[in-house]
Amino acid sequence: MAHFVIIGAGIGGLTAAHAVLQQGHTVQVYEAAPELREVGAGIVLGANAMRALHQLSLHDAVRPHGTPVTHLDLRDQAGQLLQAADTSVFTRKVGFDNLGIHRAALQQVLFRALPAGTVHLGYPFEQFEATSTGVMAHFANGRMATADALLGVDGLRSRVRQQLLPRATPRYAGYTCWRAVVDATRLALPAGESCETWGERGRRFGYVPVGGGRVYWFACINSPQPQDARFRGFRTADLQREFAAFHAPVPALLALTRDDQLLWNDILDLKPLAHLAYGRTLLLGDAGHATTPNMGQGAGMAVEDAAVLAQCLAETTDLPAAFRRFEQRRLPRTTRIVRTSWQLGRVGQLENPLVVMLRNTVMRYLPAAVSRSQMAWLYETV
Ligand SMILES: Cc1cc2nc3c(=O)[nH]c(=O)nc-3n(C[C@H](O)[C@H](O)[C@H](O)COP(=O)(O)OP(=O)(O)OC[C@H]3O[C@@H](n4cnc5c(N)ncnc54)[C@H](O)[C@@H]3O)c2cc1C
Repeated sequence: MAHFVIIGAGIGGLTAAHAVLQQGHTVQVYEAAPELREVGAGIVLGANAMRALHQLSLHDAVRPHGTPVTHLDLRDQAGQLLQAADTSVFTRKVGFDNLGIHRAALQQVLFRALPAGTVHLGYPFEQFEATSTGVMAHFANGRMATADALLGVDGLRSRVRQQLLPRATPRYAGYTCWRAVVDATRLALPAGESCETWGERGRRFGYVPVGGGRVYWFACINSPQPQDARFRGFRTADLQREFAAFHAPVPALLALTRDDQLLWNDILDLKPLAHLAYGRTLLLGDAGHATTPNMGQGAGMAVEDAAVLAQCLAETTDLPAAFRRFEQRRLPRTTRIVRTSWQLGRVGQLENPLVVMLRNTVMRYLPAAVSRSQMAWLYETV
């Protein structure tokens, strides 16, 4: 039996803790935030992520807190259908739903399912020391923790990664994004339907049901530089103006949004790394392979990481060997997702009207088999 220290109690860190416990090891999770507050908006867990949760015996705890997403429509600004995907085909095949869920609800379920005393809040990690037999983590509150291995699951701006790879910094994708979760009961949107709209002038809007009549929406606008002062003070009214020409129910979803519900973030990812395993230290989730959100796989990849980690730990008690095995199994898949998602974002955010027209025509006539094979790869393989 080995003892693990996990840095970060996001979706990745919490599922990794379950994976470690499932394999009979012990674990302590250290989180910088003083409390797990209701932050974030919606997340989609693809059928692949739901299967990974099943492998970690967490599926049944999570499933009631979200709602199945059965249709993914892609539309142009006027509402014309460019592509339609019925994901229930994959649900029938692999046995798991695509689930829309609030990030905070998912985090709470994963947290509550851990034994009391596993997660330590208010522990901002600063640095670690590696020896041939273990690791020692140091925190800003003056405490330290020793373990046989350390899992860096501290997100996009990971300090664990910074120590290992100081030059691997987040890259800006060229667009900025507002998100919110709103009660859309009165709009009576078709159950299970999600939609993304590729508009004109580098504007994109999407929405996904997350259960209980609530809908998660996101709105992206091109911006040459991150943290643009022009967007800093944006309120719902500004977004209503920017997206006024978008088809229903986009204006209605914005009209339901209070200013204090808006979250604003630039879109960033991490250029694919060459390694995730560093002796007795392993990078998981966004710390190892943060992706732009265009494939809805950020949380899914973190959950898959945990399921694969459990399998690797089951295969050997040699922790560095298990971590190397993890890296071999995960890097090709996470790298492909990061790259595809980056490209997809560039296409979705195109600005030139002629190119936009061409793009939309291509999307309209793209054989359904192309997107089906992409989804089959996503949902049916790990
Ligand atoms: C506050 C927040 C809101 C988000 N909202 C959304 C959303 O609405 N929709 C969406 O699709 N994705 C959202 N994400 C991203 C999404 O959760 C992740 O892409 C995905 O779940 C991968 O999770 P992760 O655990 O690897 O990283 P994260 O979810 O980023 O979790 C990392 C955790 O590590 C902690 N941490 C960071 N630095 C330190 C440190 N030095 N010491 C200790 N702990 C540290 C963070 O506080 C966080 O809890 C959000 C992330 C965060 C942190």
